[in-house]
Amino acid sequence: MRVLAFLDGTLADPDAAHIRVDDLGLLRGDGIFETILVVGGKPREFGPHLDRLARSAAKMDLPEPDRAAWERAAGLVLENWDGGDEIALKLVCTRGVEGDPEAGPTGFALGLEIDQKVIKARAEGVAAITLDRGIDPALAERAPWLLLGAKSLSYGINMAAIREAGRRGASDVVFTASDGSVLEGPTSTVVVAKDRTLYTPPANIGILPGTTQAGLFRGAEKAGWSVKVESLRVPDLLDADGVFLASSVRKVTRVHTLDGTALPDSSKVHAELAAAYEAEYA
Ligand code: PLP
Repeated sequence: MRVLAFLDGTLADPDAAHIRVDDLGLLRGDGIFETILVVGGKPREFGPHLDRLARSAAKMDLPEPDRAAWERAAGLVLENWDGGDEIALKLVCTRGVEGDPEAGPTGFALGLEIDQKVIKARAEGVAAITLDRGIDPALAERAPWLLLGAKSLSYGINMAAIREAGRRGASDVVFTASDGSVLEGPTSTVVVAKDRTLYTPPANIGILPGTTQAGLFRGAEKAGWSVKVESLRVPDLLDADGVFLASSVRKVTRVHTLDGTALPDSSKVHAELAAAYEAEYA
């Protein structure tokens, strides 16, 4: 099941071709996106996702997203969905067509079923590897043109990292900076549990502030956990009570193996955190 709605409020056939071959999103990956989890017809963290879309647009000198138009396009997808209870709702906006600024940005909302592999990983956890991202934690602030922390359509490196994980017998990745600090996953935020405190690295080191991590931290605080945003290193992951990759579609997924080493069993911590996260949307 797939439903496609364009930003102008029109529904379209998701199996037909709609994007011009000279669209800059296609030619240069020049655009931005969000992926939102919808459960039982309710989008999770919709406001924070639209806020992040606006921040990504600002970082890339794209026009400010028209919130009402995005809400309408997302609403159209939800109204016309008759698939499963959960939807991965993508909002995609490109710079538009090369040499034709009058055409304006290309924008659409696309509802998709959740990948079965993701559902399985939510329940069973994943093996991950650490991979060097080749940046230092001060780079994002020193070099804003590198667009670190923007959710741009240029995910070629992120996908290559996941393929590298596959070659090494794992399915996900924790990126590290050149000084050894932990960054994020290619499509997720790293969260560590230790002694009833949750930790995640600060966004200013060049990573995306996660909407799922924010929801999890809110829920966990209500359930009596402390939460801290501070720099982490790989030994902190090995020494933790639990290591998790959080993102909209994968929710809070447990890492059971890191760089080939089995981590201590975090199933109980995971169950508790997953419940605290779900309680935010009950
Ligand atoms: N970091 C990166 C690079 C991502 O691509 C994503 C989501 O896809 C996240 C973090 C997690 O963000 P969210 O929890 O808002 O989905």
